[in-house]
Amino acid sequence: MNVESKIQNPESKIIYNYLLSGGDLLAVSHFSPDGDAIGSLIAFSGMLDQLGVEHLTAIADVLPEKYSFLPGFDRIRKFDIQDSTFKIPCNRLVILDAGALPRIGSARSCIGKGTKVLNIDHHYSGPCYGDINIITHEASATAEILYDLCEEFSIEITEQIAYGLFVGILTDTGRFRFSNTSSKALAICADLISKGVNPGWVTENVYYNLQFENVQALARALSTIECHLDGLICIVSLDREKDVNDTEGFVEYASSITGVALAAFIREIEDKVYKISLRSRCSVDVAEVAAKFGGGGHLKAAGFRYLGAKEDLIKNLVDELAWNITAHKITRGSKFIERTALQPDDEHIEF
Ligand code: 5GP
Ligand code: MN
Repeated sequence: MNVESKIQNPESKIIYNYLLSGGDLLAVSHFSPDGDAIGSLIAFSGMLDQLGVEHLTAIADVLPEKYSFLPGFDRIRKFDIQDSTFKIPCNRLVILDAGALPRIGSARSCIGKGTKVLNIDHHYSGPCYGDINIITHEASATAEILYDLCEEFSIEITEQIAYGLFVGILTDTGRFRFSNTSSKALAICADLISKGVNPGWVTENVYYNLQFENVQALARALSTIECHLDGLICIVSLDREKDVNDTEGFVEYASSITGVALAAFIREIEDKVYKISLRSRCSVDVAEVAAKFGGGGHLKAAGFRYLGAKEDLIKNLVDELAWNITAHKITRGSKFIERTALQPDDEHIEF
């Protein structure tokens, strides 16, 4: 990767030439993959098929089973440095939906001196780490950027591409709820439905397909619920458990309580190693909070990892969140959301 000659949002010909330039190509997304990571990767893989570009797709993490209904899901491999299928270093590495390079985990080992990295993303935080960067902050999801590329390159939207893009936008907008639910995002989804996506089937698989063990874990997590600072901060946590693999959405229970401004879900992923999900419903930027703990993310949703005792973590986190709430003069009864829809330039949030 040559840092000096980085290209930022180039004209489409440069991207097209990159994709068709030959040599091996690996497309990856971030670990702890969410719907946009998986949906975008599947869609991008379908796009490369349409362009006749041979490639591999991988994620350096366990893939959530609930996305296995997506056409093309079984083509995503688990990245493994020992697996000789992967060329290390590779010629071309395309990174989707990862705001910072460490987010792709061990797949970083594919990057050598000669590797050309294409970074396609909508996150705010993080440097433009690719040789070529397509960064569109206004996009509701990385999937939205890929939809635009399909149009630019006249790529026919196959069933695989359509489902991948739809899942990316659906999940990153929180089921069309967050402030990134733009008219453009909805227009794209309308078009994808006209191309054969059944939204009911998607939501059934993504949101109404919970494993019994995971719902039991949710019950245990909710039993830990604690509120601080006059109910403005809410925290739930879950100790390490072997059968639990899907805790996506647990933090929403904490953040959906009336009056809660900041919420956190703390999950022990290894002994004394915690993954923290932060959500903001107010003007506090949780990406800044996460950054203080070595993580990152976005205004309204961010995260970090923590090594140490849970009691210390909770104390430090509550102190930090409380400091921010006070600095932003947020009190019980503060209004978090306006009746009028945000216009495209008012605020951007992505996941
Ligand atoms: P979630 O809480 O859903 O896992 O993550 C919300 C958002 O926070 C993600 O989309 C990602 O941008 C960011 N995020 C979560 N964990 C980390 C982390 O450990 N490091 C960084 N830099 N960002 C994270
Ligand atoms: Mn995303």
